[in-house]
Amino acid sequence: MTQKETTQVKMEDVRAKADEKRCPVQKSLVFVEEFLDGPMCGKCFPCSMGSYEARVRMRRLIDGTATSEDINAVKRISLHMEVSSMCKKGKDTAKYVLEQLDSGVFADHVSGSCSCNECTAHMKYIIIPEKCTLCGDCLDACKDNAIIGEKKKKFFSGYMPFEIVQKRCTKCGECMKVCTFGAVKLVSARETAEAEKVGA
Ligand code: SF4
Ligand code: SF4
Ligand code: SF4
Repeated sequence: MTQKETTQVKMEDVRAKADEKRCPVQKSLVFVEEFLDGPMCGKCFPCSMGSYEARVRMRRLIDGTATSEDINAVKRISLHMEVSSMCKKGKDTAKYVLEQLDSGVFADHVSGSCSCNECTAHMKYIIIPEKCTLCGDCLDACKDNAIIGEKKKKFFSGYMPFEIVQKRCTKCGECMKVCTFGAVKLVSARETAEAEKVGA
């Protein structure tokens, strides 16, 4: 591994950036990404290769393509990094990831959910018909034409409820921001799929 130029980014800044996230997997990924982009110098193998490999595995957990082997790999890498990294920066990165692994939340991501509701691959936006006033604000806000429904006009009835077409939804969250009636909700994709199966 060749050495790389390091930036002036401090480890405290790396941690602060990671701590902005709620989900332990997201925290770990941000920490490792910020570390790789900044203070990681590439002088020693366990830290440099370990960080790159952990990043790949954590990205899989976030995008919903991971297996439990990816979690085992992150753990193995971190334990090795903690012991074998040449300096405190590598050791601190490993410690941070190991602390997040202790939360137990990594396993959720293999079974298709994110208990912190932060990893959008495991979530979906839905419209609650009982709360929807048919105002149409979400329709105007959605740039991906993922919402179907008809704005309410005075003295007319029999409208189709507003609905999000999941295949078109890019999970940008704009509809939720503009809906002042709390009718747009972010829910667990796995739980709704299970509820649909039970209701079928
Ligand atoms: S542990 Fe320290 S010396 Fe080794 S690659 Fe990481 S930052 Fe560089
Ligand atoms: S903005 Fe909210 S209330 Fe208005 S149509 Fe969309 S979901 Fe319904
Ligand atoms: S999350 Fe974005 S893409 Fe999906 S329905 Fe809402 S506004 Fe459209």
